[in-house]
Amino acid sequence: MTVYNFNAGPAILPPSVLSQAQEELRDFAGTGISVMETSHRAKEFEAVNNEVEARFKALLGIESGYRVLLLQGGASTQFAMIPMNFLGADQVADYIVTGTWAEKARDEAQKIGKVHIAATTEADNHNRIPSQAELQFSENPVYVHLTTNNTIYGTQWQNIPETNGVPIVADMSSDIFSRPFDASKFGLVYAGAQKNLGPSGVTVVLIREDWLDKGAKNVPTMLRYSTHAKNNSLYNTPPTFGVYMLNLVLAWIQEQGGLAGMAEYNTRKANIIYNAIDNSGGFYRGHAVADSRSQMNVTFNLPNQELEKQFLAEAKAQGMIGLPGHRSVGGVRASIYNAMSIEGVEALASFMAHFAAKQG
Ligand code: PLP
Repeated sequence: MTVYNFNAGPAILPPSVLSQAQEELRDFAGTGISVMETSHRAKEFEAVNNEVEARFKALLGIESGYRVLLLQGGASTQFAMIPMNFLGADQVADYIVTGTWAEKARDEAQKIGKVHIAATTEADNHNRIPSQAELQFSENPVYVHLTTNNTIYGTQWQNIPETNGVPIVADMSSDIFSRPFDASKFGLVYAGAQKNLGPSGVTVVLIREDWLDKGAKNVPTMLRYSTHAKNNSLYNTPPTFGVYMLNLVLAWIQEQGGLAGMAEYNTRKANIIYNAIDNSGGFYRGHAVADSRSQMNVTFNLPNQELEKQFLAEAKAQGMIGLPGHRSVGGVRASIYNAMSIEGVEALASFMAHFAAKQG
């Protein structure tokens, strides 16, 4: 039976990448040993490390002005590291709160400096993205923080908002490299690798070069971006296997036509499932309002919890795993990251149609 993995994260990886890693597992770059057994100071590993930064920038079409850092601690550590470096105790940062992860980012910033909430969708159980008109920025924020894709609720910014020239800091954990973005709007972008970019253990940070000197000087060494930039992300022992996998995934994205190619593919896939929802005569109800729908996490409910349980059990029996929704939304969540195939979403859409028809 073919297994289709709809887990929200750690999530699906491209099969060709897994095969290549398998082939190279016991002989990395002709060394006769695995990448996990290779020194991070070895030239073979340094080449991979450098390739990651080069591929990352090539995919974004940027040559200079930004650094790509490969860190540990997940996106959750970034929630704290960002304000520790850039938000002084008397300074204000604006946060747009569109879900659980945005709340966590806000909570960490509040421990360090002043936080202004530019908008929140909490009253609507985060089923939408705020409009540009709703955003009320403070007078002089050091940055505006937002979460581009809300993994739990299944909403996604369709366009990055205007912030009057204030640099945006974005958590892109669940939609990074699913579509192009204009790096120049961002001071810093961060993402745990484990959804669109590779296995868990690596956190990717894109940071504007002129921000590196701005970081607070009283922050411990490991938590300073400048430490990692100066040392090419090799200040201490990096997660070498994760970095190697990240490099293979970035090469795979390049082969798919880069970010524009990924975006086209992801739109096609998401439409297949949203059409299954919209054509079900109300049997399936999407959590996100239509203009805020995520192309990465499709969240929906069935008429009652009994049917949801049955749906999930039958889907699992047919090889479609990882579909239970997060407890704050319930129902079903289909995570359809970059590596999910058209066949996978077609199998789910067809299962959805049959299941709804069976209920009359
Ligand atoms: N931000 C978003 C949007 C997420 O989806 C997640 C995890 O699912 C996180 C942050 C937390 O990431 P990590 O587990 O890498 O700390």
